Amino acid sequence: MKTFDAAIAGGGLIGSSIALELARAGLHVALFDKQEPGLEASWASAGILSPAPESPAMIGMVPLGKASMALYPEFVQMVEEISGQSAGYRAKGTLEVVTSRHAREELSTIIALHHGLGLRAEPLSAEDACQLEPSLREDIEAAVLRPAEASVDNRLLTRTIVESARKSGVEVFANQRVEQIWREGDICEGLITSTEKVSAKHTVIAAGCFSAQIQGAERYAPVVPARGQMISLRCASARIERVLWGDEIYLVPRNDGRVLAGATVEYAGFDKTLTAGGQRKLLNAAIDLVPELEKAQLEEAWVGLRPDSPDHLPILGPTDLQGLIIATGHFRSGVLLTPITARLIREWITLENVSEQWDRFSPMRFEAARKQTHATAN
Ligand SMILES: Cc1cc2nc3c(=O)[nH]c(=O)nc-3n(C[C@H](O)[C@H](O)[C@H](O)COP(=O)(O)OP(=O)(O)OC[C@H]3O[C@@H](n4cnc5c(N)ncnc54)[C@H](O)[C@@H]3O)c2cc1C
Repeated sequence: MKTFDAAIAGGGLIGSSIALELARAGLHVALFDKQEPGLEASWASAGILSPAPESPAMIGMVPLGKASMALYPEFVQMVEEISGQSAGYRAKGTLEVVTSRHAREELSTIIALHHGLGLRAEPLSAEDACQLEPSLREDIEAAVLRPAEASVDNRLLTRTIVESARKSGVEVFANQRVEQIWREGDICEGLITSTEKVSAKHTVIAAGCFSAQIQGAERYAPVVPARGQMISLRCASARIERVLWGDEIYLVPRNDGRVLAGATVEYAGFDKTLTAGGQRKLLNAAIDLVPELEKAQLEEAWVGLRPDSPDHLPILGPTDLQGLIIATGHFRSGVLLTPITARLIREWITLENVSEQWDRFSPMRFEAARKQTHATAN
């Protein structure tokens, strides 16, 4: 039987970065993926690095997002150095367009919200915004510049992390589906794949939206897939420097000249169909925000499944089974949260103590909620 210090289920950005961090801390680590690592949400993503909350429900995640953002430059430098490959990091800021007729009020609300959360945000007039981003539609009312935000080419980043993990001693097992955790009483002894039992002192479930399919992990990681459709455009005459946020769309420029547009959020189970309606919505909104994109070449369209949790917050940390740790539920922010997740899981395993407030992300919160509902019902 194979024996490791740590066995990780799932080789997306989350699982592979945890594997890398643990190997660099001196642990003997195994990473299992049901296919080649990194071909699910981490491949499909847009790669925006923005700790700003997209909805009131996400405000609780802002401190974690800020902590991860602060780690990003060093994290990218580390994986680029170890792997010898680029991760396509662009620290150019993001710009949110305001089109409402009540722009003045909206602008001051957005700025106050950001400053209250300790996030950098600057109000811009329509003229100033169009000077910074000359391809924007001309009839916007105002904009918000978030100069500290960035983006990364998530496909490249995933590759650099998996390669760095391999080079740092992680044993990567592709095409090995993890079927269940290996439980003896209150102890998790490792995991059981489609072909073997694997013994590990620490078992980490990081299988994205598929985590609840791993028998024994579902009660700690009750995630569901949230489908996101994306497109990639190429247009030499459209000049886009920063990530642009419109009402219905974001546009993400890549270092190689592509512009990504996304994304839909749909609850359709594990169905990965690209729909005509989804594609029409993306194309219309992209051209609406940057009219020159009407001339763009449509290069690629794809779909990915985000791991969403019942409260839309990540699920991170130890469980009531000794040795079992969960790292999933990153929903729309898994790329942003990659460095901080890897650090927290390493701290739990090597220090049994973590440097960030994490109670609200505990995998045990669903168990507590279930017990409470049960007690009320009785
Ligand atoms: C369209 C779209 C746009 C997005 N945009 C952004 C963005 O701009 N910024 C941002 O921060 N986040 C964004 N996200 C979210 C982000 O991509 C995810 O939160 C993140 O990639 C989750 O990473 P993960 O490693 O948990 O999951 P995944 O990348 O899905 O990886 C899970 C891995 O587990 C493997 N696996 C599954 N089941 C098993 C099993 N039983 N045994 C072994 N292996 C298994 C899979 O093969 C896969 O490799 C976006 C997501 C989508 C879909």
